[in-house]
Amino acid sequence: MTSTRYDGDSWDLASSVGATATMAAAARAIATRTDRRLIDDPFAEPLVKAVGIELATRLATGELAPDGLVEQVWIDLAKVRTKFYDEFFREATNAGITQAVILASGLDSRAYRLPWSPGTVVYEVDQPRVVEFKTRTLADLGAAPTADRRVAAVDLRDDLPTVLRTAGFDPARPTAWSAEGLLSYLPPEAQDRLLDTITELSAPKSRIATESRPNPQPGQEDRTQQRLNGLSDRWRLHGFDPDMARLRYFGERNEAAPYLTDCGWTLNEISVRDLLAANNLPALKDDDMRMGDMLYVRGVRR
Ligand code: SAM
Repeated sequence: MTSTRYDGDSWDLASSVGATATMAAAARAIATRTDRRLIDDPFAEPLVKAVGIELATRLATGELAPDGLVEQVWIDLAKVRTKFYDEFFREATNAGITQAVILASGLDSRAYRLPWSPGTVVYEVDQPRVVEFKTRTLADLGAAPTADRRVAAVDLRDDLPTVLRTAGFDPARPTAWSAEGLLSYLPPEAQDRLLDTITELSAPKSRIATESRPNPQPGQEDRTQQRLNGLSDRWRLHGFDPDMARLRYFGERNEAAPYLTDCGWTLNEISVRDLLAANNLPALKDDDMRMGDMLYVRGVRR
């Protein structure tokens, strides 16, 4: 399969991989508007509007019904995924951790809406144009972070430790790390490098939350790609052309969960299928996108 990606490519929130962060925030806006049991992200809608992708704005505000334009599972996934990571950070905070790193922070608003304990430092890591946009937009909206928020503008294929340390990160303190919706957008070797780096920078009792996708069976990724192409075709009719199937790196890679276990993390895992059921959300009807088997994992550094 071909990809539009190349080493060193960069983006803002309206282009390439950046647009996936805007669509993820649009899903949070829809979920917040329609079913606040699991998710309450008041910043999602204004952030999406500020990016200026017309289709994303119309979906986020409710002007356009999601039917046929986004899969219901995509909205349900936004609910359970947001809850999963919110709970992860709440539990880390309750366990006394006061240093958090949100990798690939996109339009995530946790640094502005979670009840961090006093003195907590939250590092948000993403490409420069992404983090700068969010800082500026939320300041313009009058939003104030609920922790000491610091940004680390860096490409996650590059030198994360230097940029984090420059921003004040202290590897001697236990850290809560999240990498939400990121790993499929990294080349396999960059994923390994990033997980190695996280491990090296993690004092004992550090915590991690991320996703681990099982490697594909033959033919499975062709169906995923067709489904993503169908989605892109429908979005193109509304003037938005992200070419979703070409943004991810497909093919075999080291699966994140066993890799982290080998690095010295003790993990708990739950599949998307079980997460949906545990939250009383409808089961997947078909699973061309290979969502059901994807694992949400969290763990502690031994
Ligand atoms: N975590 C956010 C969420 O769940 O809403 C954003 C997820 S979005 C699907 C993918 C994010 O990964 C984008 O914000 C993108 O900029 C970031 N990303 C992907 N590859 C990256 C890289 N090499 N360096 C920095 N950020 C990257």
